Amino acid sequence: MSDGVLARCLGVEEAAKRLEEVHDKVCGTTKPVNLYRRLQRQGYYWPDMARDAKAREEACLKCTWMPDRAECAFINVVDWRQPYIEYLTEPYRMIDTKRIS
Ligand SMILES: [Zn+2]
Repeated sequence: MSDGVLARCLGVEEAAKRLEEVHDKVCGTTKPVNLYRRLQRQGYYWPDMARDAKAREEACLKCTWMPDRAECAFINVVDWRQPYIEYLTEPYRMIDTKRIS
């Protein structure tokens, strides 16, 4: 691992168990840091870890449904329909009474 910590190489059975274990902990939140990186952070390693982690994420509806954080733009928006709704429900507010009289 890049921080100098050695990863523990897991056998097939333990790898499958740890994959499910870590997935269940982070399910639905894996987009910013994917499941592979989270497994690495736990100090796990097996030869197909990247492929298995990606396949596990792709097989999970909750993991695939979450939008990528970079794709989200959170801005404070008032409902754009509100002025139109107000106009239609209370049209007399929009009429300039000085022009009429
Ligand atoms: Zn999931």
